[in-house]
Amino acid sequence: MAVWYECQRCGACCRWEGEVRLTDADIARLAGFLGLSEKEFIERYTRIDVRRAGLALKDKEDGSCVFLRGRECAVQPAKPEQCLGFPNRWRFPGFEKWCRARPVEVDEAERRRLCREEAGELLSG
Ligand code: SF4
Ligand code: SF4
Repeated sequence: MAVWYECQRCGACCRWEGEVRLTDADIARLAGFLGLSEKEFIERYTRIDVRRAGLALKDKEDGSCVFLRGRECAVQPAKPEQCLGFPNRWRFPGFEKWCRARPVEVDEAERRRLCREEAGELLSG
């Protein structure tokens, strides 16, 4: 059996250390969602990532993501692919210590279908 992690929307991954790197598609989608030009979005909400290889979302003073409102993501329908893909399409060793996503046993075909559906949210949103 395979495992699918059901996000409990606790918001912990929007607060922990690290950065949300942005693809060009993320920037276009987020700017459109917020009604901004890409240039305006980049100026207001991004910074150079730690590898100096691209852009990442800015953090608030407490280290949480600039778009976190309480436990909710203010850009949920347009959120970056990195956010959407965690923890099913990418994760790190020991992530369960911080992430409350509920593991559900599914067969491999279903896990792949759910991954495709999740990735498709970015295209349909
Ligand atoms: S963009 Fe949304 S989901 Fe991603 S880290 Fe920020 S608040 Fe969390
Ligand atoms: S992915 Fe995990 S840490 Fe992030 S909101 Fe969902 S349950 Fe919480």
